[in-house]
Amino acid sequence: MSEELSREELMEKLREYEEELQELRRLKLVEQSVIAGLKEEGFSDRALRYFRYRKNFLLEDDPLKENADAVGGFTGACGDHVDTYLKIDERGVIEDAKYTTDGCPGAVTSASAIAELAKGKTLEEARKFTARDVIEHLKEGPRGLPRHMYDCCGIAVGSLREATRRYERKGG
Ligand SMILES: [Zn+2]
Repeated sequence: MSEELSREELMEKLREYEEELQELRRLKLVEQSVIAGLKEEGFSDRALRYFRYRKNFLLEDDPLKENADAVGGFTGACGDHVDTYLKIDERGVIEDAKYTTDGCPGAVTSASAIAELAKGKTLEEARKFTARDVIEHLKEGPRGLPRHMYDCCGIAVGSLREATRRYERKGG
């Protein structure tokens, strides 16, 4: 049973929520300007969705963080880093794939997309993915992942490959 709050405590809570809401509204404005910038750079709608909702991004409390069957990391020349976490079943099929990154929008978008592509694939298939596959997946007409972010895409692909390599090195 929840304990009862006094009127003052309730008012205080309301004020806190109101402040939080204002902050979220301001964050939304920031996000909208980032999205507008990426659109201008040529991002497709699909690429924007991956970037915006961080599909497959590993959250702090995700059980995969502790029980992944393989973890692989890759750092690009630009300093962007992507870590990939894989859950692999006994047939060598990737059940789940998630990532973390401190990288730019290109790295975030590519890592989200490659994790999505890897799910349901065998390790063998996943290892064969190239940056080209991700770029094709993000392409919608003349839009997609901007050319100057192709290297960041390579980092995401390298991270997945490194995770599969480590899994095999430790003998499954
Ligand atoms: Zn980058």
